[in-house]
Amino acid sequence: MGLIIDPAGAASSAPRTPGLDAQPLGSAVRTNDLSVTGVVGTRIEAAAPPDGSNVTLVLVGDIMLDETPGAVIARGQDPFAPFAAILDGADIRIGNLECVVATSGEAEPGKPYTFRAHPRTLEPLKRHFDAVTLANNHSGDFGPGAFGEMLGLLDQAGIGRFGGGADLAQAHRPLIVERKGLRIALLGYDGFLPRSFEAGYDWPGVAWGEDEQVARDIAMARTAHQADLVIPVMHWGWEHETIANPRQRQLARLMIDAGADAVVGGHPHVIQDTEQYRGRPIIYSLGNFVFNGFSEASNNTGWVLRMELDGQGVRRWRTLVARIDAEGIPHPDPAGGGDCWERGQEAAAPCGGE
Ligand SMILES: [Zn+2]
Repeated sequence: MGLIIDPAGAASSAPRTPGLDAQPLGSAVRTNDLSVTGVVGTRIEAAAPPDGSNVTLVLVGDIMLDETPGAVIARGQDPFAPFAAILDGADIRIGNLECVVATSGEAEPGKPYTFRAHPRTLEPLKRHFDAVTLANNHSGDFGPGAFGEMLGLLDQAGIGRFGGGADLAQAHRPLIVERKGLRIALLGYDGFLPRSFEAGYDWPGVAWGEDEQVARDIAMARTAHQADLVIPVMHWGWEHETIANPRQRQLARLMIDAGADAVVGGHPHVIQDTEQYRGRPIIYSLGNFVFNGFSEASNNTGWVLRMELDGQGVRRWRTLVARIDAEGIPHPDPAGGGDCWERGQEAAAPCGGE
């Protein structure tokens, strides 16, 4: 794909998820219960939260709501309940929705695993998440029609979405979440085949992580969308590899050079290493979160990432260890664990004092 699309160019057709989307300038915007911003006729100014008042962003890895997690929801249980306190205590909660949520479509022929969750699964999702990235290798499992149905269901449920959309321009447009005066742009990209899930000029699908396009999207998030912080959420890497591959490292650095404040990824079904590049964190893979069907302990261990953000970027981050049970439901590890990092630190280290 040699063409560069302009995500700002089609802003008028942006999804209008209440409280979660880029809003036109000059309009009064009530983003959510936590922040009221904007005055009619004035520009929304980026006010960094006062000292000591950070915005907390929680990110989790793969959420797959078909199969046993879907059955857990069908019988009235909430797969996110064990992490409710951590999720609900954050200002922004984000996950990777690793399935399509729809009733329509046909499974992609020849694809070894295809996941389609019932629309009822959006009820618990909505309870604990503000938005999901759709940029992954399963959101297109039942074709573009089912993907399009999911977009409507997410919008109806009031769950924000990014990394995918009704067309290519929308798939590359950031979701702007504003909390405590801080405008955070979330972008999502898939880098794992099949590329046939990619959105086109007039059909729905995911955003694909091409160097030049990603760099442009990040720049546009700051200019056209007035974001204070930009965080790409990636779907990449080799499955079951605990160390990020050269392509992940190259693209992560390119994104930070282009202005990203942090890069967070998933897909390998295991946790991967982390690094700081130019003082900005890269968490290569959070692993699974809600996912059944794995027998190895490494696949049934995921990270919940909690970041504290301020006007300068990520002030500190830590991971919390999730142990995933046989039904694919995550539970906080009673032994604690996880890695911690603070601005200025060279590398993350195991969290102490637990
Ligand atoms: Zn995946």
